[in-house]
Amino acid sequence: MQRGGDMNNRVAMHQACASCKHQRKRCGEDCVLAPYFPAERMQEFQAVHKVFGVSNVIKLVKDVNKERQKETAESLVWEATCRRNDPVLGLLWKIQEITGRIRAVQDAAAIAKPEHAEAAAAAKGGGCSVQQTTSSGACMEWCRWDR
Ligand SMILES: [Zn+2]
Repeated sequence: MQRGGDMNNRVAMHQACASCKHQRKRCGEDCVLAPYFPAERMQEFQAVHKVFGVSNVIKLVKDVNKERQKETAESLVWEATCRRNDPVLGLLWKIQEITGRIRAVQDAAAIAKPEHAEAAAAAKGGGCSVQQTTSSGACMEWCRWDR
């Protein structure tokens, strides 16, 4: 009680982060999670805590370079959200969904390929006339098939 004034000053300067609030402890200047889980991100912190546990979250964020800590915290939120949305498959659900989309695009490309070959042949009398290149200048896969 005698340190009440001091505590109020600290609270005014630095509001306890979601992690420290959850643990009911003082959030010091050296708190690892304070920059990534401020008080208003309690829901995200709870999701991460439910999957990984507070001590593991702190360890995972602490163990990477300072400049990549935000990225780490955000990826943990993403993983935890996937687990919350699908308690059985978690992140695997997302991977399966993306793999399915890639297959669908590959199937569509395989079906579309003969049309492109015909268009290329008609326009230039053969070869690859459709100049589809990536930002690095490499010819795209389906374009190479025409050669
Ligand atoms: Zn804190």
